[in-house]
Amino acid sequence: MDSKKFTIVTYGCQMNEHDSEKMAGILSDMGYEWTEDKAEADVILFNTCCVREHAEQRVYGNIGMLKPLKQVNPDLIIGVCGCMMQQEGMAQKLAQTFPFVDIIFGTHNLNELPKLIDEAKASKFTVVDIHEQDHEFDESMPIRRASKVSAWVTVMYGCNNFCTYCIVPYVRGREHSRRADDIVNEVKELADQGYKEITLLGQNVNSYGKDSDEKVEFADLLRMLDDIEGVERIRFTTSHPKDLSDNLIYAMRDCKKVCHQLHLPVQSGSTRILRRMNRHYTKEGYLELVEKIKANIPDIALSTDIIVGFPGETDEDFEDTLDVVRRAQYDLAYTFIYSKRSGTPAAKLEDPTPREIKQQRLQRLIDLQTAITREKNQRLNGAVVEVLVEGPSRNGKGQMMGRTAGNKVVNFEGDASLIGKLVDVLITEPSTWFLNGRLMNVK
Ligand code: SAM
Ligand code: SF4
Repeated sequence: MDSKKFTIVTYGCQMNEHDSEKMAGILSDMGYEWTEDKAEADVILFNTCCVREHAEQRVYGNIGMLKPLKQVNPDLIIGVCGCMMQQEGMAQKLAQTFPFVDIIFGTHNLNELPKLIDEAKASKFTVVDIHEQDHEFDESMPIRRASKVSAWVTVMYGCNNFCTYCIVPYVRGREHSRRADDIVNEVKELADQGYKEITLLGQNVNSYGKDSDEKVEFADLLRMLDDIEGVERIRFTTSHPKDLSDNLIYAMRDCKKVCHQLHLPVQSGSTRILRRMNRHYTKEGYLELVEKIKANIPDIALSTDIIVGFPGETDEDFEDTLDVVRRAQYDLAYTFIYSKRSGTPAAKLEDPTPREIKQQRLQRLIDLQTAITREKNQRLNGAVVEVLVEGPSRNGKGQMMGRTAGNKVVNFEGDASLIGKLVDVLITEPSTWFLNGRLMNVK
């Protein structure tokens, strides 16, 4: 008999991607095998995101398209989970709109998936199970990781910051740090399994440990992980600028394996808008922080998130954002038009700026950042960079790809034996979004 198969469609951030790896681990333990093909799957899960409206719309469209599969295979289990389901009334609305969905669950009860699947098999109706409270992290949860080279490791759950535009604290609950020993043990196991790169995840890693009695702050955790044999690179995301300590800057500077790469979302360059966003820093404070980081770590690669068109943003406010982008000289910026999320404080603010104007602002911002990224990449022409090889390139030329410590994608001629190795690549053809080069040396 053929084995049972599953697939998971993931929307949103790395945290969601990693939750999907946990659900894949649970399903693998239950005897299911991964498939890319929804048509041959016995279980299909949609792990949803609700940070912006666009992500929600895509989920609706894509769930609707599963109905014919259910008609062909009535035993197919369709599950919808993740952040979107944690919003008030959403699970009920979804169950009514799509009665062929079998299970709806949230971000706090992934570990109940086997029970939910059993219940769904025995029920004609949609099984809905959403928990409001954080559960204690189940340290024994199996994880089926997508990559064999890089692994995500959660250091903390939830968020206490309540930026006024953001739905995350409502759907992910309050901050909860994992114990340092548990994190160290997980990273040691990953090193033993051959993983070379670890990315530590949290909505704001800089407040790691503040909810715990362990007296281990994030900088200490980095120093502990830096000593683990076998790991070559450590990254982390995300850092809230208001909590980025000098200790963290020094740890990044001193630790051999911590990449000189930092995602430091600014959101807006206008102090007035930052106040309305509840971000707890000013334009000047942010720029001083950037200067301090660059003074201590001159080769730092900085990236950011920026929201354009927050309610009440004027042309002048937007000019401040462009000014910060020019001065910070980011390697990369993720840019978004403000999306109204019901239940957040910003949703109640007047928002008179027409969509067209917001779109024009976004385009100016993208043009500016693209020019900066291109120029920075051009400067790497002729340089030899260290690359951790991840796998085949997506450029369709049969090449391999990897990343620099600064997180830039590099394509080069090579074969699969290089996967997981650190190599030196001479950059011969830099472009805006990736670098092409020639393999020089395998370490
Ligand atoms: N915790 C991280 C932080 O503080 O930057 C990231 C959380 S969020 C999943 C990722 C990004 O989505 C945010 O940095 C912000 O730029 C963007 N975002 C969040 N809410 C948004 C909204 N309502 N409209 C547009 N963009 C939003
Ligand atoms: Fe959202 Fe702000 Fe928390 Fe990031 S820090 S998840 S933007 S509330």
